[in-house]
Amino acid sequence: MSANDHIYNCYAPPPQEFVRGEGVYLYTEDGDKYLDFIAGIAVNGLGHGHPALLKALKDQADKVWHLSGMFRVQDQFKLADKFCAATFADKVFFTNSGAEAVEAAIKTARRCQFVEGHPDRYEILTSQGAFHGRTIATINAGGNPKYMEGFGPVMPGFINLPFGDLDAMKAAINEKTAAILLEPVQGEGGVRALPVQFLKDVRALCDEHGLLLVYDEVQCGAGRTGKLFAHQWADGAADPDIMAVAKGMGGGFPLGACLATERAAAGMVIGTHGSTYGGGPLAMAVGNAVFDEVTRPELLENVIKMSNYMNQQFEALKDAHPDVVEDVRGKGLMCGMKLKKKALDVRNLARDHNLLVGNAGDNVLRMVPPLILTEDNVREAIAILDKVFTQAKEMDDFEA
Ligand SMILES: *Cc1c(COP(=O)(O)O)cnc(C)c1O
Repeated sequence: MSANDHIYNCYAPPPQEFVRGEGVYLYTEDGDKYLDFIAGIAVNGLGHGHPALLKALKDQADKVWHLSGMFRVQDQFKLADKFCAATFADKVFFTNSGAEAVEAAIKTARRCQFVEGHPDRYEILTSQGAFHGRTIATINAGGNPKYMEGFGPVMPGFINLPFGDLDAMKAAINEKTAAILLEPVQGEGGVRALPVQFLKDVRALCDEHGLLLVYDEVQCGAGRTGKLFAHQWADGAADPDIMAVAKGMGGGFPLGACLATERAAAGMVIGTHGSTYGGGPLAMAVGNAVFDEVTRPELLENVIKMSNYMNQQFEALKDAHPDVVEDVRGKGLMCGMKLKKKALDVRNLARDHNLLVGNAGDNVLRMVPPLILTEDNVREAIAILDKVFTQAKEMDDFEA
């Protein structure tokens, strides 16, 4: 099959076309099998074709597809109850994507300051290397000049600060500051985890200055790090006021959510926000099934076991290929390897060997496999990467 000229040229997909998925594998029409270590960019956390998700979607498809926010959806109430029972949150707004969840989070934060008598507090401190989505507000929040070029004036209200720099944050706080927005583990920016202590320090800073702490756990949530949400490694000492989730929480069905405390969400009343599709019956049916699966202790244990094993193997690969691998980073099954060769080329080379991986900023090879993977899957991936890195040695050095 050929490419199509009528599609925006925003992506450059390879010739392989996947027509079927099963667990951690994707298959082409010809039956070629690929080990999927990118999982739709950390979306297919439960792999492809998970029976519980399939059943939820098929059962709901026979009942009703769409109602809009005008009508009650019991599965929405059920899923909101689950989110609130498992986290800091008291309130949930459902969206269809990560960017929309972050948009809702930004609006919630500013609106909270507004209704608390601080209409001039609208600035949000963000991190360099952050990725929050591709809408106008979220590209400005992310602050990546490459994603903002040609899209009009820089939107005021976002202050992009060096990654993990508490002093820079303290210095940037003024009478206009409303909130601090962070990914506990950056994905797109290069698979970089913020230390738990840093999150605790930021929480304290927010309390000291009356700021809202907002997490973007669109990629690092949904069990990816071995806890339902990455900030939960701080055991309640770094809970946010607002949090955006998506990707893995939908397991492949478009679903996002903005979670908030009662206080933070107090300003979000009738007329302040909405979404035609958000919280729809199909998404909510799947979302409940995903939630029940990703909160199973055995699954989270598997994430920790597999990530420990994988890290050990990655370190061994780094030692075996010092000309290719610079360092190993990430948290849980959000894994990165900073390379000395072009990560994009290495990614493509891996695909030629039937291993699907991604790349991220800072010349990082990104691996976010399904959380259900086994030790055999890890061994298979490591064997392929070993071959790929051996070949990559011959490639020209990486020059940005
Ligand atoms: C993917 C991602 C988003 C955007 O999600 P979309 O569903 O593509 O809109 C936002 N934040 C983070 C951290 C992401 O990884």
